[in-house]
Amino acid sequence: MAATRTFSIIKPDATKRNLTGKVTQMLEDAGLRVVASKRIQMTRAQAEGFYAVHSERPFFGELVDFMISGPVVVQVLEGENAMQRNRDIMGATNPADAAPGTIRKEVAESIEANSVHGSDSDENAAIEIAYFFNEDEIVG
Ligand code: ADP
Ligand code: MG
Repeated sequence: MAATRTFSIIKPDATKRNLTGKVTQMLEDAGLRVVASKRIQMTRAQAEGFYAVHSERPFFGELVDFMISGPVVVQVLEGENAMQRNRDIMGATNPADAAPGTIRKEVAESIEANSVHGSDSDENAAIEIAYFFNEDEIVG
């Protein structure tokens, strides 16, 4: 099967605790290759736009506040079945429900401060990659 791409964010709770390397290692160990990466401070408008699909959910305001509370590392990951592979190593949204060995089980702090974002479909992956990266920033 050909390699596909997905989009990942290492969230502020993880960058603050100096876990960028550990999280990236777990992604790489899961068979994903980092083909683009940058550390950024998201603006409020950028975070609101990124999470627009969640704008009606009760936690939206807090989620945006959290996502701009510190730097994040946005990444493009490549691998066989990259979207699902990434979702599998991320673990469940709530770390209390996440399986042992997953990123959220091993490092996440709470259902909100859950250390990583991952696209939930190939279609959304393409949209999310384009939200943060130009094609010439992605080197496979
Ligand atoms: P996932 O990141 O696993 O795809 P969702 O897309 O449902 O989960 O939610 C997006 C993000 O919103 C989560 O990763 C988490 O940071 C936050 N979130 C989700 N549910 C809650 C909740 N009940 N309370 C607070 N924050 C939440
Ligand atoms: Mg999601």
